[in-house]
Amino acid sequence: MKARRIVVLTGAGISQESGLDTFRDPNGIWSKYRVEDVATPEAFARNPRTVHDFYNMRRRNLLAGHVKPNAAHAALAELERRWPGEFMLVTQNIDDLHERAGSRRLVHMHGEMRKVRCASCGAVTPNDADLSLETPCGSCARPGKLRPHVVWFGEMPLEMERIGDALAACDLFVSIGTSGNVYPAAGFVAEAKAAGARTVELNLEPSLGRCHFAESRYGKATEIVPEFVATLLAAH
Ligand code: NAD
Repeated sequence: MKARRIVVLTGAGISQESGLDTFRDPNGIWSKYRVEDVATPEAFARNPRTVHDFYNMRRRNLLAGHVKPNAAHAALAELERRWPGEFMLVTQNIDDLHERAGSRRLVHMHGEMRKVRCASCGAVTPNDADLSLETPCGSCARPGKLRPHVVWFGEMPLEMERIGDALAACDLFVSIGTSGNVYPAAGFVAEAKAAGARTVELNLEPSLGRCHFAESRYGKATEIVPEFVATLLAAH
């Protein structure tokens, strides 16, 4: 039976060749910062300036001219455009490289670096500027209540119900550039498998969850993702 409903999950590995560091690789973000200092609600409550500095630095890097979507992002946008069945791209990445490549049926389960959320009025608004402790909310104007619109360790990822429904109904699940360290995303393969889906891992190296996948291809995302997408489209 040919696959009709696809769910793709991406992680930091798909953006690595675009110039963005991954998290757990030897030179990754967690080799330079401690999660507990910059990526938890407790860290933000304790030392908001440090957390703002961390995301200000990452946002500036994302907006630097040299960071651009790569061939893997482009291949997924093409798959979405040409696929005759249902398609959902779930990303753990808080960068916007999928959007820049043209992806539209996209869920940012860990939030978005180019948005901020107001703890006072709840508004989520686009923001490309550095945040400080005094920055006023663009919606309610209260100063000092903004935080990055990202999901920190210990917080609930976004849109889990919609993602769960798609996984329960998919025929093909493809995981790209993720180490399989962070739940609930690391458990998606088991949900897709339980639904009877074909499961494929595309990564630089075997992930922690490799034994759950029926198929795998290892190599750089810019090489293996376009190849895999071309095979899928040719078979339909
Ligand atoms: P990761 O760094 O754990 O894993 C990246 C994977 O990509 C590795 O398995 C690596 O082998 C692979 N890879 C590296 N370069 C590649 C390339 N060129 N081509 C193909 N694969 C390549 O990143 P992850 O799995 O995305 O981590 C899970 C999530 O943890 C992150 O996406 C992030 O959203 C999340 N997280 C981040 C924060 C934060 O910064 N605030 C907080 C909590 C969770």
